[in-house]
Amino acid sequence: MSFENQLVKWYTINKRDLPWRKNKDPYRVWISEIILQQTRVVQGIKYFNNFIKKFPTVESLSSSEESEVLKMWKGLGYYNRAINLHKSAKEISNSLNGLFPNTYDELIKLKGIGDYTASAISSICFNEYNPVVDGNVLRLLSRYYGIKIPIDSVNGQKGIKEIGKKLINKVNNPGDFNQAMMEYGALLCTPFPDCESCIFSSTCIAFKNNEVEIIPAKSIKKKLKERFLNYLVFIDSEQHTIINKRINKDIWYKLDEFPLIESKAEIKNIIISDEFKKLTSTKFITIKNQKENIYRLKHILSHQILYISFHQILVKDCLESGIHLSELNNYNFPVPLTNFINKLLI
Ligand code: SF4
Repeated sequence: MSFENQLVKWYTINKRDLPWRKNKDPYRVWISEIILQQTRVVQGIKYFNNFIKKFPTVESLSSSEESEVLKMWKGLGYYNRAINLHKSAKEISNSLNGLFPNTYDELIKLKGIGDYTASAISSICFNEYNPVVDGNVLRLLSRYYGIKIPIDSVNGQKGIKEIGKKLINKVNNPGDFNQAMMEYGALLCTPFPDCESCIFSSTCIAFKNNEVEIIPAKSIKKKLKERFLNYLVFIDSEQHTIINKRINKDIWYKLDEFPLIESKAEIKNIIISDEFKKLTSTKFITIKNQKENIYRLKHILSHQILYISFHQILVKDCLESGIHLSELNNYNFPVPLTNFINKLLI
């Protein structure tokens, strides 16, 4: 039996019972694909179920406030995904009369939908022959065909996409084929696979050549950018503090945070820095004493390393625009800030 048919047969028997596989509703498939882009399946199930319960249809999502959508996304990270889901739901409701696009070409016009998601939805829900290429597929196909071009290069990904196109055109059900490739990569052809029990062990080139450990190949990694985020956690005698919304199209866009001073290196005593003096003078904040309680942590993102410090500073007067510490959990903070708040402030 051919590779592609063997794969689909395996999938039919072994696929996991996942909530988004209950039917082929494109809205549900869309939500699941966006959640799973940066999230493991086990964690994704909980978020998917909660999201669908709160926003069961594209109309319910489009008519909600963006802050409500962000709240449902809390803890998942990469919040742009939630912002784009909301924008696209509005686009479908307002400009497309509520009709979910049913072709790859229409899907890819929506915000937050790229080649991968458009291929997944159009094949699973509308039977179009568009192969998906995600990390699992790249790993499985590059090993099976013994391809050593780095999978994080344009050429590497193009090559795998071409193989996917050829394979998908030979099967009856393109949606099942795509899901089979992703499922096999996630469950069997994992980063550390048990090749002896793999159904492809007699035909897989990487296994035959003893190259499973070096395929998929990756380019030499660039050094991650380092950033130093100094958060000022002002606290007045009434236990109020100040927060802002991030407006720069940077990490954590539109989420809440404490007043921030970003620096090029770690600052030992922020209270005596010029940036601090400038910031407190514009906000008319008078500090109570020179003592600051500092809590530091390191947070690694895919493209940068964040050195975050929280400077707890007592202030003399009442913070007019402040909110009570007990209310902080009602806001949408990024994960490291939420952890700090829950650990040290509430
Ligand atoms: S033999 Fe090993 S490397 Fe090859 S497809 Fe199977 S699990 Fe992957």
